[in-house]
Amino acid sequence: MKKIVFSLLIFGVLFNCKNTKETNDKLNIVTTTTMITDLVKNIGGDKINLQGLMGSGVDPHLYKASEGDVSKLANADLIFYGGLHLEGKLVDVFEKMGRQNIKTIAISDALDQNTLISSDNFAGNYDPHIWFNVDYWIEITQYVAEQLSAANPENKDFFEANAKTYVEKLLVLKEKLHVTIETLPQDKRILVTAHDAFNYFGKAFGFEVVGLQGLSTATEAGVQDVQKLASFIIDKKVKAIFVESSVPKRTIEALQAAVISTGHDVAIGGTLYSDALGNAGTVEGTYIGMFEFNVNTIVNALK
Ligand code: ZN
Repeated sequence: MKKIVFSLLIFGVLFNCKNTKETNDKLNIVTTTTMITDLVKNIGGDKINLQGLMGSGVDPHLYKASEGDVSKLANADLIFYGGLHLEGKLVDVFEKMGRQNIKTIAISDALDQNTLISSDNFAGNYDPHIWFNVDYWIEITQYVAEQLSAANPENKDFFEANAKTYVEKLLVLKEKLHVTIETLPQDKRILVTAHDAFNYFGKAFGFEVVGLQGLSTATEAGVQDVQKLASFIIDKKVKAIFVESSVPKRTIEALQAAVISTGHDVAIGGTLYSDALGNAGTVEGTYIGMFEFNVNTIVNALK
């Protein structure tokens, strides 16, 4: 009996969907993080209905779906998410959606897994912070355009043209970031932040990267981690360390206090956008604006 009621419910949801489609013939797309929302918006433009689940300052590692989210997901034609366990607490929800024949797409599937950074600290998984490699983001742009085109072939040319324009902007961004980073001496390219979000950034732009917490914010840093990293900062004469907008400030403040307690000094160089963009409608609320802001903040504080 339960099964029948459930099937009717699902049928109802699908039926409703069809009804709205007649008046409004756009794909309903749901995305998770602000980076993914920004990317899909750039490609889908006004030809899609887009709803992002997470806002600015939201930590995807800890994010749990609300009831409102579940109904958004149930009405979606496509769901784009990060994958690689980025949205650790949403995986079960996505699996349920898959069983209801709603297409869920991990953007990380666009990438060759052999090129990803793996981690022993993260249960044999890959580092999910793939947006910090601009080349990956270019591949993912093309992948998203393909997926949208497959779901909505009438708008294929539109999606492809938008993807092409956006890739050109990303190439300009990459060049600009390299030029800014070139102004920072090699031995000052050490980035210390709240959690391990910047490994791909470090690999792509030649920084040594250390996070106080691991790849996920789900595990808190212990006193030993703080002491160890404080010694590293003192040894390497690191001038500044960085808060992240989606991680509580206190972790980095504790690290700063540990350095100062030994008679040394380290500044807090600013707040970086790691796992979420800035506020919607601001420059930092876009992937491109976020990346330029982060690199300017890092370079200015470490110089
Ligand atoms: Zn993270």
